[in-house]
Amino acid sequence: MKRPYNFSAGPATLPPEVLQQAADEMLDWHGSGMSVMEMSHRGREFMSIRDQAETDLRELLAVPPQFKVLFMQGGGLAENAIVPMNLSRGGQADFVVTGSWSQKSYKEAKRYCDSAVAASNEADDHTSLPAPASWQLRPQAAYVHLCTNETIHGVEFSELPDLKGLGSDAALVIDCSSHIATRSIDWSRVGLAFAGAQKNIGPAGLTLVIVREDLLGHALPVCPSAFDYKTVADNQSMYNTPPTYAIYLAGLVFQWLKRQGGVAAMEQRNIAKATLLYDYIDASGFYRNTVAPAARSRMNLPFFLPDDSHNEAFLAGAKERGLLQLKGHKSVGGMRASLYNAMPLEGVQALVDYMREFAARHG
Ligand code: PMP
Repeated sequence: MKRPYNFSAGPATLPPEVLQQAADEMLDWHGSGMSVMEMSHRGREFMSIRDQAETDLRELLAVPPQFKVLFMQGGGLAENAIVPMNLSRGGQADFVVTGSWSQKSYKEAKRYCDSAVAASNEADDHTSLPAPASWQLRPQAAYVHLCTNETIHGVEFSELPDLKGLGSDAALVIDCSSHIATRSIDWSRVGLAFAGAQKNIGPAGLTLVIVREDLLGHALPVCPSAFDYKTVADNQSMYNTPPTYAIYLAGLVFQWLKRQGGVAAMEQRNIAKATLLYDYIDASGFYRNTVAPAARSRMNLPFFLPDDSHNEAFLAGAKERGLLQLKGHKSVGGMRASLYNAMPLEGVQALVDYMREFAARHG
């Protein structure tokens, strides 16, 4: 069966091989007589699935030993509260606001600490990235929060800031929900990374948190025990029942990523896919992407037709050709193509072919 190409921003397309493997193992996982969904989270079978998933993730992302990998729930939005509850000590946290997601993080943190905007790209409608040298970092801030890929506005940091080099002792917190495992992470610059799974990792319901050990153990008294990173870490993410099936599926995706050659190989493919689409858009004289070239996301590409009245026809024609979920986020409008790890180059080529044909008819 040829499946359509799904450009959703998340929950998003998954590798067909992974879905097939999950289907094959659905009723009886490895002769256990159980579906993964039916296993005790503390049983030998599930513990082996969890341990393998962590081992593979550590290998894929080259996570240093002094970082804990936590399998949590609540998504990126819950992390917007869980991070300040664990890291702020009720003091200060600085936010670099580059789009809707970091804006939400900044506002939510206000409930738990003194949060401030260190830099913002709001003046240009979130189409650029403020240079780190211009950030107003407060010396007492416990952490600095960045969303390293803004899923809605399509801006992505291609390099993490060196906070020490900027004279700050704060921990860097990155929301990498929409580009985790699509490029390497320089852990020497990071204190904590979090990511909802539903874009590049697996199904919704699982949130990955990768946190440096020395940041654990300082949760505010108000922090729920199940969201205290130290409690979660001390219990191998089994303090509460974790999202077992989502962890299993993420583990299958990690194995798939290893078979593809790992994150470095995926990064090269992601560059090729994004270049194909941006180059076509820029040369088309019909479609527009308004993000500054240096800030353009490889994952989420918002683009506009010359006239919004063509949007419905564009989406209908795309659907007919098996190109799904291209409608832009309502706050930005237009279209958005999300090119996560599981989107093959052929899918992007099919999109470009369709866009060319549509432009020829309507240009
Ligand atoms: N951060 C980013 C970068 C996101 O893209 C999203 C979801 N699209 C979120 C946070 C929120 O995630 P969730 O809905 O899982 O809470």
